[in-house]
Amino acid sequence: MNTVQYGGELHSGRPARDLRQAMTRGFLSRCPNCGEGKLFRGYAKTVEDCAVCGEHIDHHRADDLPAYLVIFVVGHIVIGAFMGVEAAVQLTAWQHLAMWVPATIIGSLALLQPIKGAVVGLQWALYMHGFGDSDEALETHPEL
Ligand SMILES: [Zn+2]
Repeated sequence: MNTVQYGGELHSGRPARDLRQAMTRGFLSRCPNCGEGKLFRGYAKTVEDCAVCGEHIDHHRADDLPAYLVIFVVGHIVIGAFMGVEAAVQLTAWQHLAMWVPATIIGSLALLQPIKGAVVGLQWALYMHGFGDSDEALETHPEL
């Protein structure tokens, strides 16, 4: 009986990579492979290669997933906090706007890079896209 190993490479012979460790390293803006090198060279721009271990990072295709996850997380926190405050004290609409708009912006900016790092770590650990050492043919726009 075969054991299902999520994140493993049962059929390709490639060693399983530690998904939790890779996502944690990415969340901390570190290379998912070695945990030492920097993952980002800008706010949301990843390095092409890890300066420490040489792992090619530019294979990732995080695309819109980090932004979606940030909206999901920050939205739930801010709406929950808003509802709690609204139930506890009476505030004007302007007072609410003065609190929740900055909280939303700051929370989103603070979480985008760590979540993108975790998504890159996930893709690396699962050999997704170019992380699997296979040539990934880029989809081109169809001719119209
Ligand atoms: Zn590295």
